[in-house]
Amino acid sequence: MFEQIERVPGDAILGLIEAFKKDTNPQKVDLGVGVYRDAQGNTPVMRAVKEAEALLLNNETTKTYIGSHGAPAYGEVVLPMVLGQGSPVLEAGRASATQSPGGTGALRLAADFIATQLPGKDIWVSDPTWPNHLGIFPAAGLTLHKYPYVDADNRLDFDGMLGALKQIPEGDVVLLHACCHNPTGFDLSRDQWKQVLEVLKERKLLPLVDFAYQGFGEGLDEDAFGPRLLAENLDEVIITSSCSKNFGIYCERTGCLIMVAKNAEQMENVRSQVAIVARENYSNPPAHGGAIVSEVLHSDELTAVWREELTEMRDRINTLRRDFVEALKPYGLDEKYAHVAEQRGMFSYTGLTPEQVDRLRDEFSIYMVRSGRANVAGFSHENLPYLAKAIAAVND
Ligand code: PMP
Repeated sequence: MFEQIERVPGDAILGLIEAFKKDTNPQKVDLGVGVYRDAQGNTPVMRAVKEAEALLLNNETTKTYIGSHGAPAYGEVVLPMVLGQGSPVLEAGRASATQSPGGTGALRLAADFIATQLPGKDIWVSDPTWPNHLGIFPAAGLTLHKYPYVDADNRLDFDGMLGALKQIPEGDVVLLHACCHNPTGFDLSRDQWKQVLEVLKERKLLPLVDFAYQGFGEGLDEDAFGPRLLAENLDEVIITSSCSKNFGIYCERTGCLIMVAKNAEQMENVRSQVAIVARENYSNPPAHGGAIVSEVLHSDELTAVWREELTEMRDRINTLRRDFVEALKPYGLDEKYAHVAEQRGMFSYTGLTPEQVDRLRDEFSIYMVRSGRANVAGFSHENLPYLAKAIAAVND
């Protein structure tokens, strides 16, 4: 029966990684990958994580299942990290945490929950969005639509977005990126979040906030402005959180589905359904990543170390954004690319066209996806002058 199965082309990013590896140009630059890089181009294990793992190795007494909602000790620390210490939502017992295999796993749980418990509700995602969103929701049986997010000049199109949200049928689900929008890097201001809140209320829409980069934009609490605003002002919110980036534990698959309901009783009802969805997908989540996070966040000392390392990563990215624009000044291109310094997170919609991206790869060995999305963590003080020169050449 497999005879008739057709092969699909590989992931564009994986192709890019292969081509980069084969390139012998010593000046080659990889701006394609989706992980954080330090100044040496490495994605190291964070010190706080290493220390937590050493403690776990010594103290772990069992490898038994941790249950469909994951380890309670993990939920206990993730809820205040996301919703805020002393959050009124937590005080009211309105929020439930379910440990998941990464943010992706949390998204799939959310998708299955919507498909089974809220039948007939469609999902709306920004155009563009993280490509996996386009796969996950239809895979669960949901109908997916897009709302505009950037305009023809590659800038945030907030008016277009808000106008489209106002047209969405009552009761549908709207996916919002909490911060560090992937792929564009354009985030909503606090005032814009408040306007979105009003439309969600008016249209009785259910927000699903994808929170994959907490701490990578402005700060742990600052980045949570949107999800906290919605959770505190709406009866129902879904949040998918990821520890992949902020703890650097990508391969440990550590995320969390947070369901916020009107009251504690409805939360327990929803929570019982989420357990079924988790059980049907993978039974129990992997334990190790959640144990690391919980070990770090239950210790004041390790939390301080982790916060410092996270701040270092965030500051590095934001400094590189400013230095990129600065490096383009001698070519008179600083204004054209000024938005790169204003964007947040690891990714930037540079505004480079697919043709310019092709030339950068073919003539300069600079690799990025054809949408012009660059991983800012791939910039370095060594390669910025070369990058600027190359960008100037393809802008001629
Ligand atoms: N949402 C967005 C917007 C992302 O960029 C990512 C990771 N690239 C995820 C979710 C999923 O992250 P994880 O690796 O934790 O599954």
